[in-house]
Amino acid sequence: MQVLKFGGSSVGTTDAISKVIAIVKERVQKTPTIVVVSAMSGVTDQFILLGQTAAQGNEAYQTMIQSLAQKHENAVLALLPSTQQASALSMVKELIQEIQSYCATIFNERTLTLRMQDCLMSYGEILSSKIIAAAFEAEGLDQVWLDSRKLIKTNSAYTSAVVDRALTNQTIQAYFANPTNQHALYMAPGFIASNAEGHTTTLGRGGSDYSGAIYAASINASILEIWTDVSGMMTADPRMVQNAKAIPNISYHEAMELSHFGAKIIYPPTILPVMHARIPLWIKNTFEPAHPGTCIENESPKDSNVIRGISSIKDICLLSLEGAGMAAIPGFTKRLFDALAKKQISIIIITQSSSEHSISVGVSVQDTHLAKIAVDAEFEEEINLQLLEPLIIEKELSIIALVGEQMRNHPGVSGKMFSVLGNNGINIRAIAQGSSEKNITAVVEAQDVPKAVTLLHEAFFETGYKQVHVYIAGVGNVGGKLIEQIKKQADYLQKHLRLQVNIVGIANSKKQLINLAGIDASHAHDWSDQLSAASSRNTHAGTIQDFVNAILEHNLPNSIFVDITANVTVADTYAQLLSHSVSVVACNKIACSSAYTHYAKLKALASKHHASFLFETNVGASLPVISTLNDLIQSGDQVHKIEAVLSGTLNFVFNNYEGGKDGKSFAQVVKQAQDEGYTEPDPRLDLGGTDVMRKILILAREAGHPLEMESIKNESFLPASCFNGSVADFYTELEKQEPHFKQLYDVSAAAGCKLKFIAKFESHANEKMNGMVTAKVGLQHIQPSSDFYHLYGKDNLVLFYTNRYPELPLVIKGAGAGADVTASGVFADIIRAARA
Ligand code: ADP
Ligand code: ASP
Ligand code: MG
Repeated sequence: MQVLKFGGSSVGTTDAISKVIAIVKERVQKTPTIVVVSAMSGVTDQFILLGQTAAQGNEAYQTMIQSLAQKHENAVLALLPSTQQASALSMVKELIQEIQSYCATIFNERTLTLRMQDCLMSYGEILSSKIIAAAFEAEGLDQVWLDSRKLIKTNSAYTSAVVDRALTNQTIQAYFANPTNQHALYMAPGFIASNAEGHTTTLGRGGSDYSGAIYAASINASILEIWTDVSGMMTADPRMVQNAKAIPNISYHEAMELSHFGAKIIYPPTILPVMHARIPLWIKNTFEPAHPGTCIENESPKDSNVIRGISSIKDICLLSLEGAGMAAIPGFTKRLFDALAKKQISIIIITQSSSEHSISVGVSVQDTHLAKIAVDAEFEEEINLQLLEPLIIEKELSIIALVGEQMRNHPGVSGKMFSVLGNNGINIRAIAQGSSEKNITAVVEAQDVPKAVTLLHEAFFETGYKQVHVYIAGVGNVGGKLIEQIKKQADYLQKHLRLQVNIVGIANSKKQLINLAGIDASHAHDWSDQLSAASSRNTHAGTIQDFVNAILEHNLPNSIFVDITANVTVADTYAQLLSHSVSVVACNKIACSSAYTHYAKLKALASKHHASFLFETNVGASLPVISTLNDLIQSGDQVHKIEAVLSGTLNFVFNNYEGGKDGKSFAQVVKQAQDEGYTEPDPRLDLGGTDVMRKILILAREAGHPLEMESIKNESFLPASCFNGSVADFYTELEKQEPHFKQLYDVSAAAGCKLKFIAKFESHANEKMNGMVTAKVGLQHIQPSSDFYHLYGKDNLVLFYTNRYPELPLVIKGAGAGADVTASGVFADIIRAARA
């Protein structure tokens, strides 16, 4: 014989029930079959609400009964041919009348005891099983309806009754031993049973699975199949982890651990009866019957998977007892457990510190209050003597469990678990490993669960790829190019670096667009249209805090915030982001060139919270200036001097300005640079030297010198009058100052030189200035013999003089401005952060 159990979603609609009929039709040909069914999905909840409503004296309960009646009548009408509907409809009517009179009593008495609730809930399974039985008959499948209330016997713990296995075995076996009861197909309601007095009981929410297992074990079935709406037990809850996969084979013990720690797919007590009887248990999908599903059997498969699955339980609270006198209290642990057991509080995890000065137990949140009273009462004397502190309670926690029997043969699983969680800023409140080493559990804050489970799944199951979530602030020229580049390179990254880079948020100064499934960047302008259509932020324009709040709220693993603005408010959010383990990739130079203490703080936060803080494009766009410098320092070199042309803008300007000979004024050349995207939004930041000062400052800092902006000498060539007013005023003034620029040019040209804006940093080693550090920026006349002379277009050139490169410097040269190259530098930082 075999037992097939169909869950609520498999009998939730008439379409689904038709699928059930087709499956049963095929399976029943092989061997006699017991079909166990749940109530139609949602119905048990509706019955609970119905009872509560009636007990509150609320007339609305009548409408609830009507809607339940309607739902079941509709199922009859859709499943049965019209000639056979009458008797089924009158059966439904009769049951609805019973429900009605039962509810009238509840309404009049204004009470709903657990016993009454069980009786009411049982109608869910009675209705569904009788309707499906009628549908079987209509399809020519003769069946016998089994009254599970008579066959499955329990104690009187209403709503979660404990099955008397011996008595139940006897009853079921006696039934099937009777030759008049031999049939090919039986239909049984799941979930329901009765106690010694014959009152209806239920086996706990989700208990139909258990009914299936009890029937299977009692008749020693060849197989128990649990048919549901997913293709097997999965490596993680599929509602939480997109990439969860069906587990083909799993041991009873592993399945038991997973369900015990929250995998809703199977009701935890289900496994024990079939495990003892060695009956293979299969999880199958009603909506995809050809899929093999999961086979749960005795042995854990000997494959390479050390971890079989991940599950989690929410609504946990941690109770901790602490006190210096704890070790001295004899029988302490026993007393704690007994105190909880007396109140029927089940302990989900236990951890004890090795010093024996504290013990923590995780219990369900609804037991918290009771637990506090029970434990404080048990230890009242010790608390009064100050040997112990009163029970400490922490709420809003969850348990995450990694399960796998092979774990005991593979050291390092817990290390990997904790580094994955720790590196992503997830705080672990407690840990425990079962002594059988089939699971490792961690207590974490409830809000971190989806992130933690996704990360662990990625680490243990998705050797395939790592998902990275990118948020971009500032989507002008550079941002637009970046989005294009990411899109173009997506396949490569996935194939070669195993990275799946998803842009999940973009924002400009007024609006933001968020799509956690990934913003569709397939058409270059799709995202910008969507962004324009998005509503404006709540807070005043220009603040980025809404965007940052959203990032922190999403709490996605491997999140990277990319700042392509030149905005101080945006730079001010880095500390908050890094503190939450969100990596920051900054094109914006403001943070790194702010006060040294702030720069150092951001670096420390990044390191503390295992996030990356990268800003390669702060100097030389995508040229590998900072990364080279980091490599030199990390490998033990020392930088004495840096000389550089660091402004692509200024280089462009001085390469294109010929003292007005070609008819172009200095102002016109600057305007051209701005139009071509080579300047900061306010070109004075470039021309006045601030931008170059920031860059040499950042290089000096990265070389290990705590320099401040104020200590950099700026020999500005821009007349002071140019700094007044708006950008438009600046251009007018620039035009007026043409003679000044012409003279600069003429003097240099007369000496056979070119004008270049040079930045220089030096750490002096001579006697007079030993240990002193100087930095300056300014316009210089460059001879043809200099490295800087042959520097064209918007190129940058950086010369590093170091211990290893003392005379002939290490040279980095190339385009140092432009949207495309800057975007590619940002992109490279994103990849670095993603792979860190
Ligand atoms: P039924 O109504 O068939 O009894 P349930 O809703 O009780 O079905 O259980 C199936 C659901 O369990 C799935 O739809 C899935 O969302 C959820 N689930 C949670 N964890 C897992 C897991 N590890 N594997 C498969 N499903 C899981
Ligand atoms: N109908 C019951 C419930 O919803 C039992 C089950 O579906 O397994 O909990
Ligand atoms: Mg279920």
